[in-house]
Amino acid sequence: MRKKLVAGNWKMHGNLQQNEALLEKVRSEATGLGCEIIIFAPYPYLPQLQSILSGSAVAWGAQSVSEHSAGAFTGEVSASMLLEFGCRYVLVGHSERRNLFGETDEEVAAKFEVAQQAGLIPVLCVGETLAERELGATAEVVSRQISAVLNRVGAEALGLSVLAYEPVWAIGTGVTASPQQAQEVHAAIRARVSLQSVSVAKGLRILYGGSVKPQNAEELFAQSDIDGGLIGGAALVADDFLAICRLAN
Ligand code: PEP
Repeated sequence: MRKKLVAGNWKMHGNLQQNEALLEKVRSEATGLGCEIIIFAPYPYLPQLQSILSGSAVAWGAQSVSEHSAGAFTGEVSASMLLEFGCRYVLVGHSERRNLFGETDEEVAAKFEVAQQAGLIPVLCVGETLAERELGATAEVVSRQISAVLNRVGAEALGLSVLAYEPVWAIGTGVTASPQQAQEVHAAIRARVSLQSVSVAKGLRILYGGSVKPQNAEELFAQSDIDGGLIGGAALVADDFLAICRLAN
């Protein structure tokens, strides 16, 4: 039985004052919700998350990580630095990193490997653009993105991570994949992984992301291959985020 997981991705939002109110509320209501909860915050706020969330039911992490472990890489942040601020998880391959910052499948796979070797749990994001979906290429794109990681680290290592299927056309647009559309891709992802290892595929948690709100979360989370959500906009509103967490139970 895969335990449901709900992760919030703050993207480049927040300030110390707003974060404090949001984190205090999530912290105080997170206990006993029955799902795992993670918050992915911008790098400078990680000490604030560490200070407020330590000892609570909420884990935290960063939204990206360098593919290098140390060195002359101005502006980059290494996995070991994230560990120093209590991060247990890190997002890799979010579509905004892939599409706006040009991260390739190979770079994403390198980040996955470096993060995991350092002791972080990567949350690997995959998903197709609208043009790719309209071409009927969804399964092929998602499979290619996963294969890059599988080829680099193998199925056992993938099994120690979390996947997030995020159709690019549904992120921040208010358009959600229907539960059936999402389930179909989640099942295809599991089938892709089971080509390498049936047991890893069975145990792997695959989150859905893309305009998840309290109004649509229940039906999405009821699908057999959807193991929780990666939440953007709604993660910035404590009541919405907590409502989504409750629906994952
Ligand atoms: C995201 O940022 O990963 C995301 C899914 O955003 P939103 O929920 O706002 O679509």
